[in-house]
Formats: sequence, structure tokens, C-alpha cells
Amino acid sequence: MTMKTGKSQMLISNGTLATFGEANELLENGALLIEGDQIVAIGPSSEMERSHPAAERIDARGRLVMPGSICAHTHFYGAFARGLGIPGDAPANFPQILEKLWWRLDKTLLWEDVRSSALVCLVDAIRHGTTTLIDHHASPNAIDGSLDVIAEAVQQSGLRACLCYEVTDRDGPEKAAAGIKENARFIYKAESAGERRAQITATFGLHASLTLSAETLARCAEAAKPTGAGFHIHVAEDKADQKDSLRRSGLRVVERLREAGILGPRSIAAHCVHIDAYERDFLRETGTLVVHNPRSNMNNAVGVADVETMLRRNVTVGLGNDGFSNNMFAEMMAAYLVHKSHQGDPRAMPGGEVMQMAYRNNAEIASRFFQKPLGKLAVGAHADVIILDYAPFTPLTAGNLPWHILFGISGCEVTHTICGGRLLMKERELLTLDAEAITARAMERAEQVWKRF
Ligand SMILES: [Zn+2]
Repeated sequence: MTMKTGKSQMLISNGTLATFGEANELLENGALLIEGDQIVAIGPSSEMERSHPAAERIDARGRLVMPGSICAHTHFYGAFARGLGIPGDAPANFPQILEKLWWRLDKTLLWEDVRSSALVCLVDAIRHGTTTLIDHHASPNAIDGSLDVIAEAVQQSGLRACLCYEVTDRDGPEKAAAGIKENARFIYKAESAGERRAQITATFGLHASLTLSAETLARCAEAAKPTGAGFHIHVAEDKADQKDSLRRSGLRVVERLREAGILGPRSIAAHCVHIDAYERDFLRETGTLVVHNPRSNMNNAVGVADVETMLRRNVTVGLGNDGFSNNMFAEMMAAYLVHKSHQGDPRAMPGGEVMQMAYRNNAEIASRFFQKPLGKLAVGAHADVIILDYAPFTPLTAGNLPWHILFGISGCEVTHTICGGRLLMKERELLTLDAEAITARAMERAEQVWKRF
């Protein structure tokens, strides 16, 4: 087969395969054959080794083999906030967090900081087995071409990402116009990139209803229309967003966005903490994708989204990190815990629902932006695969896998990360990115960013 197609083959053998997908199966002594960028066969190890002797071999040595994690909402640009001191009194609410931290940090970023900030996140993602990331970028003093800078870093890393620039009115009409231009330019570029489209795609970024006038929303809808792209926006993250929307338009946030033509099956509404039943129906009817970010919501004390009702009413809710560490196992744990604590009910947010968000729904969300199915070990899916050094001391079955993942796996067990058939980390050694050089560069840039902050 190698001779015929010219595509390289990689065989991951002797693994415990957790396939996810429609019927999650656990395959002991299993093997997975990758050809080019996709999975082409799954079967018993001994058989597969015999029938594919020429394939490059990775011996999983009994370890767990799973699909790479997907992060459906993140901000690479926020990396330098780690350890940053905010001058004056600590922010007391969400609008103050935006004003005192994020809207000051993003203004300090120059193109090189954008690159450096993205690279440290990509190193973190490879190490924790996150192979697909949907990013939302802001750098008001380095807008034009910022998405190219991030795309270059993503390409270098070998990971998969969907990028956008957040349009907002908060920095005046010129920057809003520049944001619109950057999205439209990059969407066309990503669309015409041929094979690269499997790795880097684009959506149209909007900050949030509370920093967007009716005129700017209309301009964005108009600019996005001919591209066919959807939007990526923060929705009702805090009560302030609803208050602002009612004041501006007499409508609640989701309805305001629906009227503006922002919702749809390729649009992502991040958070949706403060939506009502009426808005939830609009999300479902329009097929809009929702992303839950429990660590961020807890950190900002904005409240807890009613994810269980959304799932019950068939809204596609996935999981994102909103700029927290690119370790989706940590995000899964937060999702598992916060609803129990908030509702005072240990039955809240069962493990299966966490898995539904992190795997099935995140795969559904990502598949709207990438060409092939992903987020599962299945023939025909993107070959996004991770190996974890996890040795269970209680029986592991397909049925109890969620609780092994939640209570046994922290994300540091990942030894191999493969994205699109390309080996990005082997036995914990990064192969595409020079982590040491990236860290040293980030340290220099972060010091400068903090001075300007
Ligand atoms: Zn966000």
C-alpha cells in the first residue's frame, strides 16, 4: 500500500485502544494503522503486525491509546497573564476583570508576543495530548496579519487549529474595522490553502454582545456572509452581558445575536452562563454550538451554566479551556465537580455527560471546521491519537472508562501525541517544537509585556 499511494504508514501496536465515537469500545492488545493523515485500519495487534510489516512501528507496550483531546474555546494570547500582578485593588467583578486584566494585556501584545504566546500554548497542548484547538485571538495593537503569525506557529507545531480575531468596538471604529478585515482576509486565505485546510481553518471572531454595536454586528454579518464562515463569540458569560443587551436593544443576548444573523450551525457561543429557556431554544433551533468552560467560569465567579438542561434539550455543548492550561483532562475534572458542588447534588453532571462534552460533542464541533471526522479512533477519521502511560489497579472496561479518565488520569500520563498522522511527541520528547528555546523566548517577551502592562 505504501508503494501504491506513496503515503507513509504508521502502526501503533500492543495498545489498549479506547475508540470513543458512536459505540465506545475498549480493545485490548489492539493496533491502529495510520496512512498519511488518517486512520485506515483497527484490529488485533498480532494480525495487524503480520499484515503490515513495512509500516513504521510504535509499540504502545500495553498503554492506553485514545483520540487526541479537543479544546473548543481557547485564547493563546492570554499565556503571559500567568503570574502577572494586576496593579491596584483586585478586580471585584467580571467587567473589572476585563478592564483591569484582559483589555490591558491584549494591548501590550506585538506580533512577536503573539507568536511567542501561541507557541507556549502549543507546547503545552502537545504535552497534554490536545490535538485540536479553537482559538479566539485579540491584540489591538497588532491586528493585521496576527492570524498569519498564529497560523505559522500552529503549522510548525503540527497541531490542528481553527483561528479567528475578536472584533470589538471597545478600541474605536478603526480597530473594529481592522478586526473585520483581518477575519475576512484570513478566512479566504485558509479556504484557499488546499491541503493545509485540514490543519488550519478559520471562523469569524466577535468579542461579545456587550462590546458590539448594532452597526458593527451588521458589518460583521455582511463581511462573513460571502465566506460562508460562522462566528465565534462569548455569550452571556456574565450578567453584565444580558444587562447591556437589554439596554441596547430590548432583547436578551441570544435573541439579539439571532436577529443580527450571528447564530447558526458553524457558530460557537462560548459560556452561555446566563441564558434563559427561550434563548436555549434559539440555540437549538439554529444549531449553534455552545462551549462550556468550567475552570474559567469558577475563576471569574460568573456563575455556572445550566449545561445539563442544554444537553437534555439537544443543544450541542462542548468543552473549552478559555485560556487555562491546554490540558483537557483538567477541564473534564472541573466540569465533573462544579455542577455537583453548585447544585448540592452528587448526581449532577455524571461522568458520561462530561465525556459526551469532551469527546462526542467536541468532535461534532470540530468536524464543522475540519474536513474529516475526528475525536475518535475510527477508520476514515483524522489520525489524531495519543498514548497514555496509565496502569489501572481496578478493572477497566468500556463502561467505566469515564471514571478511570476522571479519577486516574491527570493529563501528565501522555507519552505520545500524533496529529494528522504526524508524530509530534515520542516518549515525552517533543519532535516539532523546541520547547527550551520557546520557553526562553517567552520569558524575554513576557518581561517586556509586563513592563508595558
Ligand atoms: Zn473566552
